[in-house]
Amino acid sequence: MRSIKDYADIVGEETIEEIEKLGSYLNGKIIQNINSTPVGGGVAEILSGMVPLLKEVGVDARWDFIKGGEKFFEITKKIHNSLHGVEENISESDFGHFLDVTDENLKEINLLGDIIFIHDPQPIGLIKVKDRKGFNKKKFIWRCHIDLSSANTDTFNFLKKFIEKYDYSVFSSPLFAKKLKIPQILISPSIDPLSDKNKDLPAETINEVLERFRIDPERNIITQISRFDRLKDPLGVIDVYRLVKKYVDCQLILAGGAAADDPEATEVYNEVIEKAGEDKDIFVLNLPPVSNIEINALQRASTVILQKSIKEGFGLTVSEGLWKSKPVIASAVGGIPLQITHKYSGLLSRTIEGTALYAKQILQNPEYAKQLGENGHNHVKHSFLITRHLRDYILLFLKTGFREDTVYL
Ligand code: UDP
Repeated sequence: MRSIKDYADIVGEETIEEIEKLGSYLNGKIIQNINSTPVGGGVAEILSGMVPLLKEVGVDARWDFIKGGEKFFEITKKIHNSLHGVEENISESDFGHFLDVTDENLKEINLLGDIIFIHDPQPIGLIKVKDRKGFNKKKFIWRCHIDLSSANTDTFNFLKKFIEKYDYSVFSSPLFAKKLKIPQILISPSIDPLSDKNKDLPAETINEVLERFRIDPERNIITQISRFDRLKDPLGVIDVYRLVKKYVDCQLILAGGAAADDPEATEVYNEVIEKAGEDKDIFVLNLPPVSNIEINALQRASTVILQKSIKEGFGLTVSEGLWKSKPVIASAVGGIPLQITHKYSGLLSRTIEGTALYAKQILQNPEYAKQLGENGHNHVKHSFLITRHLRDYILLFLKTGFREDTVYL
């Protein structure tokens, strides 16, 4: 088990002392996080690191999930896509089913937090409980991890009725926010530098993982780690690889798994397998739900990391790659430009051809690759580590009413 004190080596003693002090102001308060899946995807990734650290600094943090069947998660996936601006057909009956499942969850879930901290749209309807007796003293916060800037109007309006009942909303970037009647707080996501996903690994572990998947450590490796999701464009990544391979020898790793709340993954995985065909240099790895050491090793073994998303919330995988001082080429969408300054801390691209061109440049110029990776590492160190996020969340919780005087968010 790691302790908050272990982060002092990375961010300094003073930062840790400040977090501990701020956390002590929340002593005994219950912060109840609720999302839709314990593993898979960025929200679960963040909560699994954040909840133990909050507890350690004196905050009684809890983490619960809502339940839903396949139909519910098919609908919430459509809602997710349509909030990202993708055209989806969501019927009245779909919205009706969403509300029915919300009501079923309301019967089962014990909303005992002083602050109920709801993550993303799937559990958003739990706010209905606010009108019930005994709930008016609780504070409700909705944390949106999605870029809502091109959200479908009907879908957004459906959610807006719920959002505006919350006391606060939290967005990752001003660019993602919407006009709302409630206060909006801006807090960007983070990665945990000491987690199995991001900690330093001995060379033997990296080699052992490569050997297990029969990947050649002596040749260039291009990698994208992502759930098998169309918005992550895994098929486009194969196109990129094929263009690069005309000029520079390389292998391609497409590694990801499914999230419990993402029913499309198997279909997309099959499309990827079909497109990869007989190419022995493409490694399509369907990883089990918790594969942190494997992902860490694959990222560390890579010569180039791609994140060719068509739409993206924040894109934690970008920070994960940069933290490992890797050159990352990623689409200029969602939260990715917050993490990459073009040609300084990585490369931003918009097309398959552009991505391939940059990948080729990086493979042919290791010095340039190294410089981008180092700058990227420093940027993540200053802006996207869990300690900054922890402090922001504690300040947010204090701001909801426990200690207004201490708050400077
Ligand atoms: N991830 C994982 N296993 C997988 C695929 C992804 O653990 O098979 C992790 C990945 O390393 C990152 C998170 O899940 O920490 C994905 O977050 P991101 O913001 O990149 O995308 P999201 O899946 O939330 O859209």
